[in-house]
Order: sequence, then C-alpha cells, then structure tokens
Amino acid sequence: MQAYRASLLHFHEDPAFHAQAYEWHEDGLLIVDNGKVHTAGDYATLHATLRPNTEVHDYSGKLLLPGFIDTHVHYPQTDMIASPAPGLLPWLESYTFPTERLFDDPAHAAVVADFFLEELLRNGTTTDMVYCTVHPQSVDAFFEASARRNLRMVAGKVMMDRNCPDFLRDTAESSARDTEALIQRWHNKGRALYAITPRFAPTSTEQQLQLAGELARAYPDTFIQTHVSENEDECAWVKSLFPQSRSYIDVYDSYGMLRPRGMYGHCIWLNERDRQRMAETQAAAAICPTSNLFLGSGLFDFPCADAAGMLLSLATDVGGGTSFSMLQTMNEAYKVARLGGSYLPALRMFYLATLGAARSMQLEGVIGSFKAGAEADFIVIDPQATPLLQRRAARSESLEELLFALALLGDDRAVAATFSAGRRLHARSD
Ligand SMILES: [Zn+2]
Repeated sequence: MQAYRASLLHFHEDPAFHAQAYEWHEDGLLIVDNGKVHTAGDYATLHATLRPNTEVHDYSGKLLLPGFIDTHVHYPQTDMIASPAPGLLPWLESYTFPTERLFDDPAHAAVVADFFLEELLRNGTTTDMVYCTVHPQSVDAFFEASARRNLRMVAGKVMMDRNCPDFLRDTAESSARDTEALIQRWHNKGRALYAITPRFAPTSTEQQLQLAGELARAYPDTFIQTHVSENEDECAWVKSLFPQSRSYIDVYDSYGMLRPRGMYGHCIWLNERDRQRMAETQAAAAICPTSNLFLGSGLFDFPCADAAGMLLSLATDVGGGTSFSMLQTMNEAYKVARLGGSYLPALRMFYLATLGAARSMQLEGVIGSFKAGAEADFIVIDPQATPLLQRRAARSESLEELLFALALLGDDRAVAATFSAGRRLHARSD
C-alpha cells in the first residue's frame, strides 16, 4: 500500500451537465493498494486510516489527477510530426505512406514504439487508442512495448485494401485473418485491448468493411476505430465511392460498425442525423483540435454534439496533430470552440481528457477516475513548472482559473510524474 499527498481532482460526471461533477481536495490523499485505487479524499480524514508503515509520498503544492487518455493517435507517425503539406490528402501521399512503409521491419517498429510510449508518459498520458500500420508486426511491437510498462493501451492493425500504395495494401481476406489472429493474441492479454482499425472508408473496399463489421459483431468487447468527416474533400470522395450511402458515417453504420466501443476520429462535417445515430449507438467522437487546425480540416461543433448527446473525448492525432501534450490539445480545443462561437471551460476539458474518454471507451470504473477499485494510473501536475506558470498560478482565484492556466500555458514540463498501475514510470528531471 502506498499513499500520495497533494491537491486531488477527479470527476464523476460531465461538468457541462451536472453542478456537482467533480471532487476536489485541496489537501488530499490518494491511497493505492496493489496497483488499484483504494481510497481518495481529504488528507485530514484519511491519514489516520493508513496502516502503520504505509509510505506517504508528499507532493504538496502539486495536483494529482487521473492519467490523461488520448483517444486517437498514430504511433508510426511519431517521426513525421510537424511535416508541411497543403491538406490531408497531399500530406498522406508525401509523408504518411512512406513513413508507414518502414514498419514492415519489426526492429524499426520496436524502436519507435518505445520512443512513443516514453513520450506519452512524459506528457502524462497513460492510455491511448493507437493506430498501428497495415503490418501485423507493427501491432506486436507496440503491444510488447506497452506490456513491458504494464500500460492500459488500445491498438490495432490498419486495414487498407485500396487507394493506397501497393506496399501498404492488404486484401479484404488477409486483413480479416490478420485482425482475428491479433485479437486472439492480444485482446485482454494483461492490460492490452484490441481495436478493429479500418483506416477510413476511402481506403477500404466494401468487402473489407463487411468483414470488419463481422469481426466487430463476433468480438463485441473489442474496439473499433476509424476516421470520419475530417475534411470536405475527403467527404466528397466518400460520396463518390459510396453513392448509395446517406452520409459518410452512414457507410460505417451500414456495416454495423456504430456501436459501443466504436471511436470515430474528427467528426467535423456531420449532420444532425449523423450525430443522432452516434448518440443512440454510443459510438464516440475523438476530437483532434491540433490536427484539425494544422491540416485546416475544420472546426468541431461542440454545441451540436452536446445537443445530440454524443460521447466526447479529446485526442492528439499525432502525426497530423502537432503535440503529444493533452494540455496543448486542450489549449487548441478551447480556441476551436471560440472560433465556433462557443465556450469550453477548463473543468470540462480536464473531464474530456480523463473520465469523458473512459466513458467514451466504456471503461468507466477501470481508468479515468479515482473511484475505489479503478486502476491507479495517475499523474502529478506542477503549477510551478515554469516561471510564467508560477506567476499566473499564484494569482488564480479559483480551481477553474488554475486549470485554465495549466491548459493554456502547460505542456510536458508541467508533468512532474506519471504512474501506471501504481508504479512510477516517469519523473521529470528538475
Ligand atoms: Zn488520425
């Protein structure tokens, strides 16, 4: 048993819809037993309940939060982050496909997977939903690297059997066979979870989507992840490829892929009916603001998504996204909301990056909060991380103000430590 003293914040509801959405203990204590949360609350009441000899780690002056969850990211694109291209389709051609080709080599995949996971931990991210490449060995390399660190990770092999270079093309049959073998090898093994991963509708034949949908039905507790309605050129392309479909997301719907544990990246150019379908099927949206601004894709519509009751979370979408930091992702989400005429409070953004994501993934009670029994994935945030943050934090008059300053000014430097299943895996070197 281990205990951690600091200011403690976690959510039990969405602050956009509930007045009492979170728990805040200015002088708090988190008690961890065997990698799980035992209790979280006020230091004053809990310290007397500690068993003798329990070590208390003192992080007073810092914030203890559940680890961040990033619901959409491409680990093979780590080395091509910040690559210039005028829009999504030229960016895919010039950078993405040649970079992903290298993951044919398991040794290369292993090196990048290790770097990627260390970068996540430096940024306080403890769970990701990860796209690998079309190569099954890229998935093995990723899950082997995450198992060594005992991380709660979701990942899958990209399925892609048309409109891509030959060197990245599978077939409908081979992609289904490889996916099923990977599900059997990795899903629920330790903390690994599998996601059936057709890249996006334009790079899959109808036969491949059909088989992906069949796998999603055969293995109902696996995840599904793909892209939808990211930019207008792509939407027009999907319309020409699937003229019988009502909309882009309707393509996935018609193959039975809208269901709980379905995670759809971007969701910008949706209509009312699309949003309703996502809400009623509990398919969730991964909002990728740094990527959407970088590629000029468009602005996610928060009010319309909330009106429909969609499940929402934030995501980096590295390498289309420009930062591994969920704090920097909040910074850009805030601006996306402002440009769309709405407003995102900091409390809501921290909810979306923790419990909101866990709910979107049907993993509430497992990750994303300090509920008793949850896996002890947590981070220590330092409001004194930089001279500027220190001055701004000193003048914060509310929790909202403090969190807002962290979201707008913070990045990896603000993450003092990252713990996974009760073990410290990252400590910032000061
Ligand atoms: Zn993506």
